Amino acid sequence: MGGIPPCASCKLLRRRCAENCIFAPYFPSDDPQKFAIVHKVFGASNVGKMLQELRAEQRADAVSSLVYEANARVRDPVYGSLESASRITLLNPKSRANKIPSTKTLPLLELGCTVSKMTEAE
Ligand SMILES: [Zn+2]
Repeated sequence: MGGIPPCASCKLLRRRCAENCIFAPYFPSDDPQKFAIVHKVFGASNVGKMLQELRAEQRADAVSSLVYEANARVRDPVYGSLESASRITLLNPKSRANKIPSTKTLPLLELGCTVSKMTEAE
């Protein structure tokens, strides 16, 4: 027995973590909260499906987007990431570099800008 712990996903779902587990590279067992929040917001099976449809090199970006968006939705379930993105853009532009880890989240920021422009036009 290698004694390799199951990834955060398999641990939460109480299943055996296979050698080629699609979650394992992105949801390590030492960061269970990362998977827990994505599972709560999107559902594990949806996340798994999405990962399978993406090319391997796109998955890390997609996962960081999901984690970012899931966190935003949990903080603010009504407006979710749109509201967070516009808040970040409008109020604290310096935090963008820290809070948005990948280029995949840029469309969210663009949406945030659109929302804030619409609000200004009212
Ligand atoms: Zn696993």
